[in-house]
Amino acid sequence: MQRAIVESERAALRHRHRAVMEPTEQIVIPPQIHHAMIEHARFCYPEEACGLIAMDEAGELRMVYATTNVDRSRVRFTVAPREHYGAIKHAERQGWTVAGSFHSHPESAAFPSGRDIAGALDPEWLYFIVGLGDEMPDVRAFRIRDYRVVEVAHREAS
Ligand SMILES: [Zn+2]
Repeated sequence: MQRAIVESERAALRHRHRAVMEPTEQIVIPPQIHHAMIEHARFCYPEEACGLIAMDEAGELRMVYATTNVDRSRVRFTVAPREHYGAIKHAERQGWTVAGSFHSHPESAAFPSGRDIAGALDPEWLYFIVGLGDEMPDVRAFRIRDYRVVEVAHREAS
């Protein structure tokens, strides 16, 4: 297990240098959503936290669903299927779509790990990562396409 963690961190470090900014895309993170992701990450510490994000048709972030990580792991996550389904149903009722997820890195930076990159199958999915490895929690957003990490510029709404 320890070896697997080291391998995935090495992969993440390799990919770090390949991350590029997407100049055309900028996400605005409402303060409540920013706050909720960080609080859920802290609540689940030292395990990884996870959740889902709903967007409206205009691409605005509307909702964060804090979900159970059924893996109960410090290095990986799986959103509880029943909660995933519940989030999709709730979002649909509001006219939103579940367009991304967030998870935390309890001891490391807010950058996709080798495992995150390998497991990213949907190029349109938004991946938010909360890094608790530094003094201040950090939230970053990515798209992962063909194993290529594209950081999405974001700012917290005031
Ligand atoms: Zn991760």
